[in-house]
Amino acid sequence: MRRIGIFGGTFDPIHIGHLRSALELRQALDLDEVRFLPARLPPNRERPQVESAMRAEMVSRAIAGMDGFMLDCRELERPGPSYMVDTLADLQRELPRERLVLLLGTDAFLGLPDWHDWERLFTYAHIAVAHRPGWSLAYESSLACLFADRVVGNLRDFARTRAGEVVFVEVTQLEISATTVRELATAGADIHFLVPEVVREFIEETGCYRRD
Ligand code: ATP
Repeated sequence: MRRIGIFGGTFDPIHIGHLRSALELRQALDLDEVRFLPARLPPNRERPQVESAMRAEMVSRAIAGMDGFMLDCRELERPGPSYMVDTLADLQRELPRERLVLLLGTDAFLGLPDWHDWERLFTYAHIAVAHRPGWSLAYESSLACLFADRVVGNLRDFARTRAGEVVFVEVTQLEISATTVRELATAGADIHFLVPEVVREFIEETGCYRRD
């Protein structure tokens, strides 16, 4: 049974923090594929600065040639807020034989109880949380009890069941945010080495983050 990692985000723009984390999660969880799903309208935050097609194009360029990395534009094609639970339901209908693993950074995981219909996510997918060395769910007392019954430490157990379990994976921390990249690009500052070179060139050529 194939395992598909689902990496959602605003990707405004995609940066090397996203990419390195996706790669390490793919290796640690033995995922056959990682799908990058840019959100059209992220529900719990401000609207993206750059339009959907451009954000998707940057993802496409960033992952080109990376074995097992794929762009999935279904959230961009769906009207209304981009609820992950709808995305996973749709994916499960389309891929009934695959195992879906929702990939989250710690910041996204900590906000999970605010997501639309979040408990239903576990009907469709496992969740893998990429965290910094030394971080533990035990430090987050309000979340620890919500997830305690779902956490598995052993990646083999995680693979046996269809959905509903949570696993924590230690990954290299690259403290980069898209917010910082946008601010630098808007100010005309140098964004070399924060994003893949093809993304930096796209941002420069289109001027998409420049202040008009
Ligand atoms: P913004 O600064 O605009 O909020 P962001 O950099 O946090 O953006 P998103 O597109 O909102 O990026 O994040 C998508 C996913 O990537 C989330 O699961 C988030 O936790 C994760 N993520 C964001 N930044 C990093 C990073 N530096 N390293 C690993 N994962 C990250």
